[in-house]
Amino acid sequence: MKVNIVGAGLAGSECAWQLAKRGFEVEIFEMRSHERKTFAHRTADFAELVCSNSLRSDDPTTAIGLLHAEMRLFDSLIMQSADANKVPAGSALAVDRQGFSDFIQQKLLDTKKVKISRQEITELPQNSHEKWIIATGPLTSDKLSQSILKYSGQEHLAFFDAIAPIIYKDSIDFNFAWWQSRYDKGDGKDYINCPMTKEQYYQFVDDLLLGEKGEFKDWEKDTPYFDGCLPIEEMARRGKDVLRFGPLKPVGLTNQNFVEGHELRKPYAVIQLRQDNKIGTLYNMVGFQTKLKYGEQKRIFSKILGLESAEFARFGGIHRNIFINSPQLLDEELRFKTLPHIRFAGQVTGVEGYVESASMGLLAGIFTACEISNQKPIKPSAKTAIGALLNHITQGHIGQNFQPMNVNFGLFEPLEQKTYKKDRKSHYSKRAIREIEKFVY
Ligand SMILES: Cc1cc2nc3c(=O)[nH]c(=O)nc-3n(C[C@H](O)[C@H](O)[C@H](O)COP(=O)(O)OP(=O)(O)OC[C@H]3O[C@@H](n4cnc5c(N)ncnc54)[C@H](O)[C@@H]3O)c2cc1C
Repeated sequence: MKVNIVGAGLAGSECAWQLAKRGFEVEIFEMRSHERKTFAHRTADFAELVCSNSLRSDDPTTAIGLLHAEMRLFDSLIMQSADANKVPAGSALAVDRQGFSDFIQQKLLDTKKVKISRQEITELPQNSHEKWIIATGPLTSDKLSQSILKYSGQEHLAFFDAIAPIIYKDSIDFNFAWWQSRYDKGDGKDYINCPMTKEQYYQFVDDLLLGEKGEFKDWEKDTPYFDGCLPIEEMARRGKDVLRFGPLKPVGLTNQNFVEGHELRKPYAVIQLRQDNKIGTLYNMVGFQTKLKYGEQKRIFSKILGLESAEFARFGGIHRNIFINSPQLLDEELRFKTLPHIRFAGQVTGVEGYVESASMGLLAGIFTACEISNQKPIKPSAKTAIGALLNHITQGHIGQNFQPMNVNFGLFEPLEQKTYKKDRKSHYSKRAIREIEKFVY
């Protein structure tokens, strides 16, 4: 049976490779051609790196380096090409971008299993006897986006990621921060709260206004964002007290760390952090989507009491990025629940980054191959980098505000044994490599 893939980006190319090397015929539909490009793509090449030429750290004791290592065990085409086209970049894996794309295209054509059709797919395919993988990335064409919208519903397709910073819980200082839900609702202790005095609040507002921001690209300027997810600096610009009556409102919260009469017991403003993953290792700063540059976020947010030594799993941001609400729409094997002959892969599933996108293409390819051959796929567990990402986008994320995520150790199943902080990363890494070997086939 032939498998159809839409999009010859990082995910689509990796997916095609995993299928072709298992003997399946593949047709890739790619809308870019010598005449047509996207806002970000400059060529018609396969797996074009639209911005940086770095695949980030190659050190296997980092989460991304571990993902590299795991993908090499799967004979990943993206990793083969990266290794073959490496340029000096310290501990990072940076590549010659033209060589990187050429290698991938040539290897796919050499399989004699892959056909390329330069064509835009404008509708989600209806024929349930065919297998399709949608790997159309953050710049999915408008017509296809509209078709996805039709099947997923307005609330399940995002055009911007409005990302609030995400923090490792164990880097928060609970001498200042405390657990409490507003008016003790729910479990009473659903949120982590960080207090601000009056002086700190107005200093914070000034910092937001003066902090260095990233620019919207021309092609992002026409895409409106909702009033419900304004950047915090935009709220600060609209009035000095807007934040204090918005996401930083202090009502219904009392900091038990401080005695009656202390100004931090009933703070002037409160930053709330909400659990971001099921295992409770990551917390996001509620309502903190921002265009502040990363260095500025670290500088300004580290002044908040309780967050002085905060470690960020990801910084906040807002940029054009089309992605689906995967935890609601996809099953554990990346199948679109409404039309299960279709899988999604790559950045459109709500992972972020070149390698993360390719890794979801890799899994979509293997899952499809298994399904056609009536084999039950073994799914990598959240002890591995690739399994942790899969878990995050299909079931690990909780709450309404699903946002794209790079791979990070906060997504992994916690270590079974107590481990010194300095040894944790290498333990995660060793455990993942042991675990992934059960899955590679
Ligand atoms: C401007 C920008 C800069 C980025 N910079 C970085 C970075 O520096 N580092 C990083 O790690 N990540 C970066 N990313 C995020 C992400 O890693 C990349 O977008 C990555 O290319 C995603 O891989 P993908 O395969 O999912 O999508 P893509 O690589 O974008 O591939 C999708 C393909 O689908 C095609 N397509 C779309 N719609 C259709 C259709 N209807 N029919 C047929 N073909 C279609 C597109 O032309 C494209 O070739 C960036 C994203 C953007 C938008």
